[in-house]
Amino acid sequence: MSDVVTAEAAVAAPAGEEAPVLWMEKVERRYAEAGAPLEILKGADFAIWPGETVALIAPSGTGKSTLLHLAGLLEAPDGGEVYISGQATSKLADKERTRIRRLEIGFVYQFHHLLPEFSALENVILPQMIRGLTYKEAKDRASELLTYLGLGERQTHRPAEMSGGEQQRVAIARAVANAPRLLLADEPTGNLDPKTADHVFSALGQLVRASRLAAVVATHNMDLAGRMDRRVTIRDGLIVEL
Ligand code: ADP
Ligand code: MG
Repeated sequence: MSDVVTAEAAVAAPAGEEAPVLWMEKVERRYAEAGAPLEILKGADFAIWPGETVALIAPSGTGKSTLLHLAGLLEAPDGGEVYISGQATSKLADKERTRIRRLEIGFVYQFHHLLPEFSALENVILPQMIRGLTYKEAKDRASELLTYLGLGERQTHRPAEMSGGEQQRVAIARAVANAPRLLLADEPTGNLDPKTADHVFSALGQLVRASRLAAVVATHNMDLAGRMDRRVTIRDGLIVEL
């Protein structure tokens, strides 16, 4: 485990914390284009600790989704390293990256991507059963989470029978069903009216604080970003604190 870093090697640790949940060290990402390659990240540094919420605010096309894909181990960087709970990931086999992703990371997207044929409850049960929990265990946790998110009365509804805000809250419940340490949300309220966005955002914040998750949320909504612990942007391929 020579690739495991200590907090000292990363950034100053908050009291009591051993390692950042996510540490991106000098991360590079470029896409091949006819002519010059498109340089999206040029050595970006970023760390987030348990219980922290960080808003990622940057114009379209600057690399927010790219950053979240790298953080979520869906893509590997062209340079630098991505550490999850202190473990370097870029040289791991796909199988091991998938295992870390399943155990430690939850995703919420702009569009909910719930399974249309299944109820809210079933959508939250499924990832837990894939992880190996019994139906009963998975159902109890799903029900608890949905109730916590204010959806106690909507558990048997299918996605099409719920509002946009309700669908997104189910997507949040699904993302945290396996108790990840890191939640990555890509414009999760981008598709909602302001009042609903506010409601979904509050639910997300409450859940993050209660469970000591770390959450990175890409958003264009400055009001919502203002309620998070920190705000960062992407400037010239680097991550900059706002
Ligand atoms: P954001 O989420 O901030 O809108 P993205 O991370 O989606 O930005 O994209 C950043 C830039 O990289 C954009 O210019 C986009 O067109 C480009 N890009 C993203 N994915 C690819 C890809 N697979 N191939 C080539 N270019 C890409
Ligand atoms: Mg995007």
